[in-house]
Amino acid sequence: MNNREDRRSFLAQSAVAAVALASWEAPVEAADSISLIDTHQHLWDNKIIRPPWLGEAPQIAQPHTMELYLNEARGLGIVKTVYMEVDAAESDQVKEADFVIATCKGKKTPMKKAVISGRPGTAGFAAYARKYEHNPYIRGYRQILHPPNRERGLCLQPQFVKSIQMLGKMGKSYDICIRPAELEDACKLVDQCPGTQFVLDHCGNAEAPWGTQSSEYQTWAKGMKEISRRKNVIGKVSGVIKTCKPDKDKAEQLKPIVHHTIEVFGIDRVIWASDWPVCEFTAPLKEWVAVARKLASELPSRDQRKLFHDNAAKFYGI
Ligand SMILES: [Zn+2]
Repeated sequence: MNNREDRRSFLAQSAVAAVALASWEAPVEAADSISLIDTHQHLWDNKIIRPPWLGEAPQIAQPHTMELYLNEARGLGIVKTVYMEVDAAESDQVKEADFVIATCKGKKTPMKKAVISGRPGTAGFAAYARKYEHNPYIRGYRQILHPPNRERGLCLQPQFVKSIQMLGKMGKSYDICIRPAELEDACKLVDQCPGTQFVLDHCGNAEAPWGTQSSEYQTWAKGMKEISRRKNVIGKVSGVIKTCKPDKDKAEQLKPIVHHTIEVFGIDRVIWASDWPVCEFTAPLKEWVAVARKLASELPSRDQRKLFHDNAAKFYGI
């Protein structure tokens, strides 16, 4: 489906969804600009789920609902979204899954698919994942591995590896979100799971202030090159804006990271995402979209369409 058709079908759906989308019908951009699929959209609403870590993130701790997202996204050209799990408490996992399945199924919002939470290192993961094996709205699973308190090497433990191999058999994906110095571990996981599709989140969690001459940058750049050699991994251009210094041009700060990510994975294996509302630590959604469009502007428009829309449409089947 091309962008114009996307818009038409989206607007038709929007007309049905009167209340939440009243402000959503008009915002699409001029016909010649490239539509975006946001492949990493978080939502939290105290009535549904409240991630336990929000207490340590007062800047974004208020409810972030679909309605708020649609308001922020007005005029930015975002035509579809993929929900991304929010590191909810284990006891809230099913509630989160039920919420996103109902949202996708309701067809009243741009949310088309979801990546839900899971604990692949536990024996109970298999039964949990089996519940959603044939659910068309669940594309995959994620457990973040980058918080400081998460033990190194978790993703290489036998139970974890077995779970990720199982996801491949179920046709589900796994999102890797790992500390940049541990991309080597991610490579080892991928090597043991050749039948599973992976997405590497947030440009491998590189940090803008490093500078290209730093050892951190060099280690990360090498790790990215190495993981990108695995053809069952795609790279997600997201997250990194939250590491930018506020007083400097953000596109300039992010240029080496984003360009290296696109270069090593190649234009057919990269997707874009907002990571909203986490981007709000340094930039509202509107600013990140503008920075991303600027960073991609050197690419031919066909390649920009791949990054912002077409690759995601294919990977998520939306
Ligand atoms: Zn995120």
